[in-house]
Amino acid sequence: MATLGIPAIGYGIRYDYGIFYQSIENGFQVEKPDLWLRYGNPWDIVRPKIQYNVPFYGHSDVYHDESGKVRFKWKDTHDVRAVAYDTPIPGYKNDVVNHLRLWRATSASSIDLKSFNQGQYIDAVRDTQLNENISRVLYPNDKIFVGQELRLKQEYFLVASSLQDILSRFIKGNSDWRKLPEKVAIQCNDTHPNLAIPELMRFLVDEQGLEWDTAWDITVKTLAYTNHTILPEALEKWPVSLLRNLLPRHLQIIYEINRRFLQSASAKIGDDKGKISRISIVGEGENPVVHMAHLGIVGTHKINGVAALHSDLIKKTLFKDFYDLYPERFTNKTNGVTPRRWLRQCNRQLADLYTEKIGEDWITNLSDLKKIEKFIDDKSFMKEFVRIKLENKKKLAEYIKAHNDVDVDPESMFDIQIKRIHEYKRQFMLTLYAITQYNKLKKNPDLDVAPRTIILGGKAAPGYTMAKLFIKLMNDVGEKINNDPDVNTKLKFLFLENYSVTLAEKMIPAADLSEQISTAGFEASGTGNMKFALNGALTIGTLDGANVEIQEEVGEENIFIFGNTVEDVELLRHEGYNPWEFYSNDSELKKALDQIRDGYFNDDSSLYTPIIDSILNRGDYFLVLADFGAYVKEQAKVDELFKNKDEWFRKALLNSVRVGKFSSDRTIADYAEEIWGVDVKQD
Ligand SMILES: *Cc1c(COP(=O)(O)O)cnc(C)c1O
Repeated sequence: MATLGIPAIGYGIRYDYGIFYQSIENGFQVEKPDLWLRYGNPWDIVRPKIQYNVPFYGHSDVYHDESGKVRFKWKDTHDVRAVAYDTPIPGYKNDVVNHLRLWRATSASSIDLKSFNQGQYIDAVRDTQLNENISRVLYPNDKIFVGQELRLKQEYFLVASSLQDILSRFIKGNSDWRKLPEKVAIQCNDTHPNLAIPELMRFLVDEQGLEWDTAWDITVKTLAYTNHTILPEALEKWPVSLLRNLLPRHLQIIYEINRRFLQSASAKIGDDKGKISRISIVGEGENPVVHMAHLGIVGTHKINGVAALHSDLIKKTLFKDFYDLYPERFTNKTNGVTPRRWLRQCNRQLADLYTEKIGEDWITNLSDLKKIEKFIDDKSFMKEFVRIKLENKKKLAEYIKAHNDVDVDPESMFDIQIKRIHEYKRQFMLTLYAITQYNKLKKNPDLDVAPRTIILGGKAAPGYTMAKLFIKLMNDVGEKINNDPDVNTKLKFLFLENYSVTLAEKMIPAADLSEQISTAGFEASGTGNMKFALNGALTIGTLDGANVEIQEEVGEENIFIFGNTVEDVELLRHEGYNPWEFYSNDSELKKALDQIRDGYFNDDSSLYTPIIDSILNRGDYFLVLADFGAYVKEQAKVDELFKNKDEWFRKALLNSVRVGKFSSDRTIADYAEEIWGVDVKQD
């Protein structure tokens, strides 16, 4: 947004502890606290005068104002103070600087004076500590909802402080709240900030005395919501009991929003009880919950998915009933990545090679890279392109030697899968492939395969047992393969500790092959896929998320697409998928699974029972076995192509220069024009 010259603020929480540091001990993930502020942070600009109160608990009182109107007031709250810390976000060489504003939690008064006067000094100071816990630590979960009160406090803390900041800025230059949607756009990143809907209503109705309908019109027009997943276990559903205690007035407002919504919906869809209950914001039953995605659709003017396939899917499945009611609210904004970090900074030699040929406009207009295509038959240019990739691979090889003490051949194919560890992302499928290749090479060490270095990395959510077991398995498989002289000139298998942006910047420029192998329908977009292609890796992937659009851009002859499509997956499930059939009919696959089960990779043969069990006895929900055959066949094509280096690098170049669409500049310009009503001049 800074680079496009859009005045904007990014709001978040200034956690003491961000995402944990992942260390690998005896092959297992061990989470370590990462105290990133230990030595201070030179970019921090503390704004001690920018502070807001954030109320919690208390109760909602009803009263009559002077005109006799029924009004509500949230009273007897326990207040926490939010203090602003800014980080400047400069645009690229355009003299624009936006800010990231992060809130730190502290006590409203440094000690609770009442308790202090009673001599309860320790109690008073302990309470200030409790308040500060709100910004203590980031919940490390990925695509899983954990309904803890502290997390709900964090979400309201973010929303309440950010909205006060936005609204106080607006009212300095304006007098009519009805102008708010013309001056302000608020984009909610997932449902986590969706309490902004009842909070803005509470502010306008309770504090500013606006009529409900006027306030509602302002709220809906100001806010928009981006959906990031359709995984049911990831969708936020807050227990009504938690909300009633922590945010009693917001719960009332949510009930009123829902009452009016269901009333207007039944006017359109009639008395269909099943449908009405499906779309309700508040779930029924013994332990009712507030469905934050439903709130996000009802309370905002635009809802978007993050790739074309995903945006289409939410209209047809997850939010179909809502799409029928509000078709004009649903839109797509395909994700993008910034060319400054993901090419110019992380791969400076390639960036400079491109600039030397076409000038530097591509840095802010990534589609310009297509002008590079005409150099594809220029031998000295291609030689340089190949040399840069090799040099990036040598640097990564040095890193691997230093950190994993394994020698890898920079001339081998660097086959990389880096992303959070999740069953739907199917790191297990790549692991199975490596095992079958290992077995083949073990049987026939002279097998004519392109030497491959398979490299994985990624953090598992601390409570996700299966994902953590995958990490142990990957480390055990690597141990076996890398120490076997029969195969280890042709195959290596590595798991790199503590995958992070810093590590991604080293790995992605060194990749030949990008693994994007999620079960079709489960990866909303992916952005790793874009970073790899931009740096000249070929993709092996399913027709999922943004892979679909990457194929459209690079051409189907320049990408390795395999496996069941979204439609196939639906059909397969409908007809009754049986993983045992695939197990029995593929002897190489069977052998690999048997080896994992029987202790070939670990003396404790029961260690991997949960993995085998989920695949064979619990229905293999993510269809690893159903896609495995197609995956191995596609990998054989990859192997063949890599033996022909000229052909490989032609395709690698075409990937790099044809993915201009996936610039975050294009993404942000689309949000600006189609959701925020902001004009962007694009060249
Ligand atoms: C880009 C990126 C991701 C997202 O990767 P996907 O493959 O799209 O899941 C995750 N973590 C880091 C550190 C990244 O840089």
